[in-house]
Amino acid sequence: MPIYDYKCDACQHAFEENHPMSAPPVRQCPACGAEKVRKILSTGGIVGSTKGGQDFSPPAASPCGGGGCGSGMCGMPGMG
Ligand SMILES: [Zn+2]
Repeated sequence: MPIYDYKCDACQHAFEENHPMSAPPVRQCPACGAEKVRKILSTGGIVGSTKGGQDFSPPAASPCGGGGCGSGMCGMPGMG
């Protein structure tokens, strides 16, 4: 069952609620009773994705090799 983090805008009370996704979100603050509760993104380490390596693929190589083609030699039709 997922855990949701909530925070009350009225009294700044933060709390967690675990309820099924099908259940409606909490609207009322358990501390002050104000309906100023909003759901915040959980910062818990439930879904920890730590990629230490370089998992970044460079963009597609440009026709001119990315060397600053300013001479129209990229092979683009009508541009030369
Ligand atoms: Zn409150």
